[in-house]
Amino acid sequence: MKTITAYKCKSCGHVMFPHHYRCLNCNGLEFKEIKPTTKGRLLTFTIVDQLPWGIDERARVLGVVEFDNGVKALGVIKAANPRIGMRLRAGWKPVRVIAGEKVYGLTFRKTK
Ligand SMILES: [Zn+2]
Repeated sequence: MKTITAYKCKSCGHVMFPHHYRCLNCNGLEFKEIKPTTKGRLLTFTIVDQLPWGIDERARVLGVVEFDNGVKALGVIKAANPRIGMRLRAGWKPVRVIAGEKVYGLTFRKTK
């Protein structure tokens, strides 16, 4: 499991992922690194059925997940019948093959 480092502004507490030079909320310049949990909930999703070469699937679900500590990230949703608000767990798995090489990305599965 790849860990994702997010950044919390030392002046206002705003959490950002990925890193930005200045806080998007207050323009602060100092941050504290925080590691998100691997669990969160699905905020929104879309189903893509026109997929590029290298993805051997008929359709793919892309979604934005909010981790339990407030960090948000986009990834491939590997759950049947996705619905907003469902609990998911993050993984780091191959999401595409390019020139015979696996490309890894964020994936989300339903928590048990
Ligand atoms: Zn700030």
